Amino acid sequence: MNTSPSPVWHPFTQHALAPEPRMVVRAAGAWLETATGGRILDAISSWWVITHGHCHPRIAAAIAGQAGQLDQVIFAGHTHPAAEAVARRLVAMTPPGLDHVFFSDSGSTAVEVALKMAAGYWRHTGEGRTRILALEHGYHGDTIGTMSVGARGVYNAAYEPFLFEVTRLPFPQAGREQATLDALEAACRQAPAALLVEPLVLGAGGMLMYAPAVLAEMAAICARHGVLLIADEVMTGFGRTGTLFACEQAGVVPDIACYAKGLTGGALPLAVTLCRREIFAAHYSCDRARTFFHSSSFTANPIACAAALANLEIWDEEPVAGRIAGLAALQEAHVAPFRDDPRFAGVRRMGTLTALDFAAGDAGYLAQMGPALAAFFRDRGLLLRPLGNTVYVMPPYCTTGDELDLIYAAIAAAADQVARA
Ligand SMILES: *Cc1c(COP(=O)(O)O)cnc(C)c1O
Repeated sequence: MNTSPSPVWHPFTQHALAPEPRMVVRAAGAWLETATGGRILDAISSWWVITHGHCHPRIAAAIAGQAGQLDQVIFAGHTHPAAEAVARRLVAMTPPGLDHVFFSDSGSTAVEVALKMAAGYWRHTGEGRTRILALEHGYHGDTIGTMSVGARGVYNAAYEPFLFEVTRLPFPQAGREQATLDALEAACRQAPAALLVEPLVLGAGGMLMYAPAVLAEMAAICARHGVLLIADEVMTGFGRTGTLFACEQAGVVPDIACYAKGLTGGALPLAVTLCRREIFAAHYSCDRARTFFHSSSFTANPIACAAALANLEIWDEEPVAGRIAGLAALQEAHVAPFRDDPRFAGVRRMGTLTALDFAAGDAGYLAQMGPALAAFFRDRGLLLRPLGNTVYVMPPYCTTGDELDLIYAAIAAAADQVARA
């Protein structure tokens, strides 16, 4: 084995402070296995992407089959069966009215595509609107455009001059939802292009949750003013919030929707941006200047599409909804005792997701609590990556009650340690 320092530069990692990354060589179900034979329980679905469990045999087989048949083909002027099948199934599975599917390869690019679709729509329909409304604490990716629409902070301070301005609405905190709706109403009178939201759960912003009724109200205000609604379901999509898509719980059909992480069950990078026919129609013209000018080299890569197709078949043919309901009930049973526990300042759950805010200390991401907690869990063979003082559990849907017992025993032990400090 080569013992010279690795040239790899890791994401969101301060190499001067971070421990040696663990070498992972295998995965199955909710577990990762390291080169030294250690086992790690993947309580955050490997950064929110794995849905059914690692190395689902059906997805693995689909990838292998496609890799031997058609690995890649240019997607301009060409198409292939896997992409066609994925697109048709997505149109059938997503809220009715989302009729066109644009492929890309990450959540960030799916959101970039959504922003460009919105700007294109307004340009080609003659109003030239470009202003974007977004929620405070939102996260939509790490490219320049998605950093622009996301929350500002230490993560993007160095790139501030590159970022465009957006109108930020207060997060609809329980009891203060009206302030958000009033701000949205006022902002809509300025003829913005679109409102971009993470429906029901703001992930990277701290697993902040709001009620479906608020999402429905926001959608209604947008509709009243003719402002496009963009739903970033990159994290919430594919079951995390208890329903296939979060928008379903509010009975909301967005004008544009972004899906990525769970689209392939988490096995390969692939993303889609779906839109209503009006948005496609605004670009449909004999005038080439109205073309939707976006592509990436691997748009709708056949192997990734085969993985996505296998995932959608799993949703159709396996009892995924039942697994999610079971996991949600187990999660509730585990967090319920913490709801009036002084060691926690807040406890939230939506669907398969839970989040617990540890009381005391500094809530900032760079504060010591986050890294200290991460180390505590790492030493116990658990993959949990707190957001500041918020520990969240986002397990794959195969996770069992016994596995959750391990996770919550460690969280309780960590809370004891924090309370004693
Ligand atoms: C993760 C995430 C993104 C970015 O997705 P990538 O695939 O990491 O580019 C965008 N929006 C939300 C809500 C996310 O959670």
